[in-house]
Amino acid sequence: MTETLVFGDLLDGARAFPRRVALSLDAPHLRLTPAEGDPLDWPVRALRSPPDQAHPTDLVLSLADDPVTRLVIRDRELAERIRATAPALHKRPPLQNTTRLIGWSVASVASVALIIFVLVPVMANQLAAFLPPSGEKALGDTTFEQIRSALDDSGFDPVPICESPDGSAALAKMEARLTENLELPYPLTVRVLDHEMINAFALPGGYVVLFDGLLDVAEDPDEIAAVFAHEIGHVVARDPSRMALRSAGSIGVLGLLFGDFAGGAVVLLLAERLIQASYSQEAEMNADIFASETLAQAGISPLGLARIFERFQELGGDQPTFMDHFMAHPDLMSRIERAQDTHTHADVTPSLNAAEWQALKTICD
Ligand SMILES: [Zn+2]
Repeated sequence: MTETLVFGDLLDGARAFPRRVALSLDAPHLRLTPAEGDPLDWPVRALRSPPDQAHPTDLVLSLADDPVTRLVIRDRELAERIRATAPALHKRPPLQNTTRLIGWSVASVASVALIIFVLVPVMANQLAAFLPPSGEKALGDTTFEQIRSALDDSGFDPVPICESPDGSAALAKMEARLTENLELPYPLTVRVLDHEMINAFALPGGYVVLFDGLLDVAEDPDEIAAVFAHEIGHVVARDPSRMALRSAGSIGVLGLLFGDFAGGAVVLLLAERLIQASYSQEAEMNADIFASETLAQAGISPLGLARIFERFQELGGDQPTFMDHFMAHPDLMSRIERAQDTHTHADVTPSLNAAEWQALKTICD
């Protein structure tokens, strides 16, 4: 009688990828036959099934004297036969192996730490350089929707996007003035979210997101134009893409460690990292410099940057994020004043007229 061939995947720790092996159970051995090389005979009485495997339906085998090598069997019938035959499948390793096991787990924690804190950030920077604009846009679309859901207290309804016709027209005018002389890596996607948070942030792929709370506290349109320009600075420098890849990478590695922990928690973590993004001091300073130069070029008074920054400082206290996000670097004020000096007052017009400003402030109503 010929048996149909059954295969398993052998992970031996020496290779990064599993090897396909043909399997036959012929007591007292389970024979593993690789495509190349000699077959291995695993004694049935030495077979162990490590606890807590990710896929409960698969049978994962190891050998009593080899804690590293794993054989994954997906064939149900063979798995059943092995479960019925192997006498010590669920025997735990004897106590003398404890030190060795602790050694193994310390080593694996150390290597995961290395991945999270060293490799992922380095890789994120490299990856960001290779990510095509369409990929960044897709990443931005996804995270924007996740953020809308994560910001809702009930967790059911995404936070609404504000888009009254007059308000949207005013925002589009401001965007056009700011970007007129810029070379952007991709067109901007500008959104106002109906949420009281006093904040703004950028997402991968050209997203600039303003909160209604920010429109509420701003006292003139140039203050919003200044925040807008600062966020465009992050877009141009592709800061959000690097941040997203870094966070997603770290969260992905954590997911591997702790199993598939609730998707919601991961999304919240990522959303929070992007909204509260505090980039490096250098990235923030560059975004401020970019903003003051862009405002000046657009004929908008760069003093709005100083005013909104002062407003953030006054609000201070329970709003420490702004202090991180909009850097309090001593250079900023003198830079703004210099930018102002080089432009005569005749060159400067408000970023929006009074009616447009009113429309923008009430875009969520
Ligand atoms: Zn910033």
